[in-house]
Formats: sequence, structure tokens, C-alpha cells
Amino acid sequence: MAERVLFKYIDDPKQHQMDTYIRHSGYSALKKALKEIKPAELIEMVKKSGLRGRGGAGFPTGLKWSFVPKNSGKPKYLCVNADESEPGTFKDRQLMEADPHQVLEGTILASYAIGCNHAYFYIRGEFVFGHQRMAQAVEEAYQKGFLGKNILGSGYDLDVTIVRGGGAYICGEETGLIESLEGKRAFPRVKPPFPAVSGLYNCPTVVNNVETLACVPHIVNRGAEWFASLGPAKSPGTKVVCLSGHVNRPGNYELEMGTPLRELIYTHGGGILGGRKLKAAIPGGSSVPILTEKSIDVKLDFDSVAAAGSLLGCAAVIVMDERTCMVWMAQRLSEFYEHESCGKCTPCREGTFWLVEILSRIEEGKGTMKDLDLLLSICDNIAFKTVCALADGAAAPVVSAIQHFKDEFVAHIEEKRCPWPHRAFDFDGFVQN
Ligand code: SF4
Repeated sequence: MAERVLFKYIDDPKQHQMDTYIRHSGYSALKKALKEIKPAELIEMVKKSGLRGRGGAGFPTGLKWSFVPKNSGKPKYLCVNADESEPGTFKDRQLMEADPHQVLEGTILASYAIGCNHAYFYIRGEFVFGHQRMAQAVEEAYQKGFLGKNILGSGYDLDVTIVRGGGAYICGEETGLIESLEGKRAFPRVKPPFPAVSGLYNCPTVVNNVETLACVPHIVNRGAEWFASLGPAKSPGTKVVCLSGHVNRPGNYELEMGTPLRELIYTHGGGILGGRKLKAAIPGGSSVPILTEKSIDVKLDFDSVAAAGSLLGCAAVIVMDERTCMVWMAQRLSEFYEHESCGKCTPCREGTFWLVEILSRIEEGKGTMKDLDLLLSICDNIAFKTVCALADGAAAPVVSAIQHFKDEFVAHIEEKRCPWPHRAFDFDGFVQN
């Protein structure tokens, strides 16, 4: 089993406290960077490490930092995306609750690298405890001189402000997050310009995920080569995988990138509930295509999951056993996207509504064969044709469910009922029957 990096001390009940974090070498990376590493060298180090964003897109972190213009004459901002809302995801929450200083140290390092003097934490509104823990960590960091003016005598200044999220899924989309931070409704922006050039208050802005930033102190302490040596060359490092659904031991597991799905489910997750068979898994949070049990040996890294026809996303693996009705699953997910569509783009606003309508009538035994083509047509008209990726995420599970489980859709239509006595799965984590 791979060495735990982010979760090394996370089981220590006092790890959230400054003294405990420092006892475990906390803030040594910050001291080292401010003393020995220039901002441009830090960006190069993170580039060399191969770290890719852990929020879903997998974009190279150092490259993202390097896009921030050096001489725009405007302030630069770092926004920490802690609005974790993807169904199936709960890793950032644990990182903030159990080890907030690790996240904060990464935030200070990233801010230093891009020349930012004011960073914002945008924390999902429902994360009351995580917000308390981060607020306490920020206060302690100010007291110890890790934040504020002239940090550790380096001449570098940084303030951190924590903001509670607006309570919508779309607040986690990076430009929606920026709009919300500016006090507006979280309507995603048309890109370009990208935030690195024109983000918060039209200034250069980097938006990084919590887990991404938590990796940075370890890269500074142990070197880019060490990080790059973990897992596959193009997706290095460890990854906190959120395992949920029909498994015996759901939870967060920090594993080396490239760990097979089979090992995750059967070794770490203790296998399928009740000894039943695996039917399908969604590997990256609910916005990605479904994989069937045939992909059980796929390696969990960005490129391998993409080669298998899905996306690693934020590595939120939702497991479904043989009793799960795939029509109902698609309907349930579509309801989520319909509810969370911000309404800015017509294809997404109208398309998600019609997905729910059609999937509901099929599930209720009132569908026709023409509905299958209609579903695919709607998905084709919304995916990759809107301002943000929510619409792509709404289409992915529907298209892949029809692709892999068409026989179940046909059975609903021909039998004029849901043939599955046990729906068995609720994406809020409640297992029925
Ligand atoms: Fe809003 Fe949907 Fe358009 Fe995204 S794709 S901006 S959620 S309407």
C-alpha cells in the first residue's frame, strides 16, 4: 500500500491545532520557501512535480500558476475552492476539518508563488464544522506570524479572508465562485478571458482546489522528484478517493494514483454490500460517464480512466450493485442537475428539465421507444454547448446509462413498469432495502 501523504497524521485528533501540526513538521515548507525559494522557482518546482488539479479537471497546477501575468499592475488573487458539492465527494471536507493547517500552508505557498497578497477561502455554506476549523487555523496562523505583514521577516505579506458559500452547486464552478465572491449570483462567466488574466474584480486570479493546495507543502519539503515518482508519470502523486454506495466500508482513502478500481472496492472498501455483484461505478463524481463491472481493473488515474471511457474527475467513486435500477439512477441524477442548473443557458435550463420529464415517464412505465432517441438527442444538444460544464455533467450519466444498459430502458418500456423490485440506491447515501 502506498505511503499516506495528506492523511499521514489525519487520525491524530489534535492535528487541527497549530502546535500539533508544527510538531509534525508543519510550516517547515513555508519557512524553507520564504528563505530559499523564489516565487518563480516554486512555480517551476510544482510544474516539475507533475501535480494536477484535484478538483476535477486535472489541469497541471504549476502551469496554471504560470499563466498569471507578472506585470499587469493589478492585484493578484488566490481563491481556494472549498465549495465541494459534487455528489459523491467528501474529501475536501475531511481535509479542512481534520488538518486545516496543511491546507492553509499550501494556500500561503501558492499565494507566494503567484505574488498574491490576499487569498480567499470559499467554503461550502453547509460545511459549518469545516468553516470553524479553517477560521481557527487562520487565526492561529496570524498569531504565529504565518499570515499578515512581513511573514517570518521575509517581507512577504498575505491576508486570508474566509467566505461562506452561496449554497448552490454552481458556486463551485470557478467563475461562478468568483461571481459569488463579488457578491453576485453565481452565474458562470463566458471564457475567455480566463481567471488567470481576468478573475476576481477583473484581476489575475488563480482558483485552486483544497486537496491540490494540501499537496504543495509536501512537494516543497520532499522535492518535485519525489512527488513525480509516485504513481503514473502523467498523473503523479497520491489521491484521496471518496468511496460511497454499495460497499461495506465507504470513506476517504488516500491511495497512490493508478491504484486499480478493483483494489479500491474489494480491498479498501471491503467488497460489495451483502456479497452481491458489482453492476456499475461512477469513477469521478456524478458528472462523468458510468463504467460497468467490465472496467473493474481500470487504474484510477486521469489518463487510464479517460482511456476506459470516463473521467477521474475528483475521484468520487460511487458503487452500484446488481440490484440498482439504471433508469432510476439516471432519473435521480438528472433531477439533481435540473435543480442545480443556474438557468443562464437555454440548452441546460430546458434540457435538464426534459431529461427529468422523459426519464420519469420511462421509470413509471409510460415511456416509448422513441423516448430513447429523444434522450440522446437532448444530451447531444446540451453537452459541450453551454457556458459551463454542468450541462456536460448532466448528459454524461444519461448517455452512458443508455449505452451500457439499453436493455433495462427497453424492459421498462415493454413491461410498462420498473422491473426492479429493489431500486436500492439513493445518492444522498441512504441505502434502501
Ligand atoms: Fe448555468 Fe447550465 Fe449554463 Fe452552466 S451550463 S452556466 S449551469 S445554465
